[in-house]
Formats: sequence, C-alpha cells, structure tokens
Amino acid sequence: MERNWADLLPELLGSCSQGLCPNDLSAFRAVCRSWRSAAVEESSDVPWLMLADKKGKRCREFFCLQCQRVHKKFMPEVKARRCFSSRGWVLTIGRDWELHMLKNPMSRGSHIINLPNLNKFPNIEVENLRRYYHSYDFRVMVTYYYNARLGLWKPGDEEWTKVDHPSSFNFDVIFYRGCFYALNANGHILRCDVNGPTPSKAQVVFEMPRDLLGLEQMYLVQSTTGSLLVVSRRGQYRPRGTFRFHVFEIDLVAQSWRGIKTLKNSSLFLGWNSSFSLEVDEKHHIKPNCIYFTDDFIDNSRVTKDGGGKDMGIYHLQDGTIEPHFQGKSYSHYSPPLWIEPNF
Ligand SMILES: [Zn+2]
Repeated sequence: MERNWADLLPELLGSCSQGLCPNDLSAFRAVCRSWRSAAVEESSDVPWLMLADKKGKRCREFFCLQCQRVHKKFMPEVKARRCFSSRGWVLTIGRDWELHMLKNPMSRGSHIINLPNLNKFPNIEVENLRRYYHSYDFRVMVTYYYNARLGLWKPGDEEWTKVDHPSSFNFDVIFYRGCFYALNANGHILRCDVNGPTPSKAQVVFEMPRDLLGLEQMYLVQSTTGSLLVVSRRGQYRPRGTFRFHVFEIDLVAQSWRGIKTLKNSSLFLGWNSSFSLEVDEKHHIKPNCIYFTDDFIDNSRVTKDGGGKDMGIYHLQDGTIEPHFQGKSYSHYSPPLWIEPNF
C-alpha cells in the first residue's frame, strides 16, 4: 500500500517538529499544508553566529548552535556593510553612513527600519560606531566617534540626538528597566532616562571601584534573573587573545557590587552584539556557566592581515578554560562574526 506523507498523524508531525532549529523548522513547514499546520510555532532560544562577510556574496552564512551546521540566508542588504545586532535585529552601516535595522534573519518575512544617516554627527567614521542597543519600543542608542560618545534616536526623529554625558570613552550600552545605561572607562555607570524630563542627558548613578576595572573591554548585561552585570574581558591586546573574564553583579539601589563566581544554568553572549544572557541546557548545545564571545577588538579588524574573527570561543567560568564554538575560519576587516539573539 502506498503511504502518503501528508496523512501522517498531526500529533506525530508535531512531535517531529519539536527541537528543530528555525532553519530546519522552516523547511519542515514548507513540505505541505498538513505538515505546516502540524508544526510547532516558529521560535527558538538558541543564538546563531552570523559569520563574516564574504566579498561579493549576497547570501550570509550563520552557524547554528542548535544543529551545529551553517545555514545560508539571502540578505543582500548586509553585503559589504558593517553589522551589529541587538535583540535579534541586525544593524547595518556602510561607507555611505546609512543605517538600517533588519528583522531577525532567523524568522520568516523581512522588515527594515531606516535610521537617520550617521553623517548628521560631525567627523563620524563607520569604524567608530562601536555599540548599538534598542529598547522594546525601538529607541536606539549607539556609541560613535573615536571616543565612543552616546547618540540617541527614537521613531519619528529625522536626526540623531547627542546625549550629554561626562567625557569618557563608553564601553557598552544597555536598555535596562526602562532606561538606557552606559559604562565608561572610568568605571562609571550612566543612566539616560528617555522617558524623563531630560531624555538627552546621562548622569552617573554608580561608580565601580577602580581596582576592579580592566583597561580593556567591559560589558553591561542583564542576567536571566533580571540583575545588572558588569563583565570585564582581559587579553584582547595580546597576540593569543582573550584569556579571562570577570563578572560583577551591581545593585544600583543599594549602591553595592559583588563578584560572581558562577552563572549557574545560564550563559552570556558578548561581542559586536548587544550583550545578552540565556538560560541554557545541553539539549540546546549551549553549555551553562559559560561566556560565548566573539572578536570585537577593533584593532583586530583594522590592522591584522586577515581581519577580525580569530579571538572567539567559549570561556568556562568554573575553571577559566576556553574552547572554540565555531570550528571554521571566518574573518573580516570590517564585518567579523557576531551573535544574533533569538527573538521572534
Ligand atoms: Zn540549525
């Protein structure tokens, strides 16, 4: 008797579709109408690593941590453009200084938000856009210029707004509990209350002890339990790259901090993406109590022979060891690999 795959029981099809990564789930749904209606809803909590730009290619490759394979997506909008990511969206910028936000490449359909041209700021260079974060209602904060100033945009604005803040290099920005926060090289955490009376002003709300500060890269991350973390990264300047991370939990109300020895069943994702944390387990091929990092040292992109993308790996907080997450080579002088946060 001939068997028709379209007549398989919906319960069986539904259970088959569970655990598929977004790419495989999309292929599963495309088989026929009955498979599409039986498939689980499209969602995933496993990040993709957006690989480096390949010259002349209109497709971009993504290393999927869930299935451990590389998926290709047709994304002509990112060709030869520098990329960042925040909350699943990809920010692109080119030599024309035009900025676009592209909806999560893991999801079906496409959506583009056009932001004002960055040449509205004086003396900006594409390489000097360093950090990007957007809120739930698509207000965008970036760091720009050689000394990482803060710039703000909200839907409807035709220009970027310069944020008034103490003159110091800003390592990172985050949208946290209704406000933007930045962390600068003096170890000061600044708050910019975009809903308050002075939305274009950032004020110091916390000072990290100076002896805890790394002079290299620092990040702001919201933990899976909702607390604010500061992460310092050591070794980016060295030929062999990153060798250590330190994690601190900050209590802005109590004005206190403590060192974190374990992230328990969560892990952090750092690099040219807006930093994020995830609760993880082995079935997702993500290891707990780890920091998954990419190469975001700008000099690696600018002055090394192959470009940025070598200083990547999985840092185990428990014993300080580092192992690779992506086994291949993916380097670029202007658009090295970065994490894409699952967000549908
Ligand atoms: Zn996959």
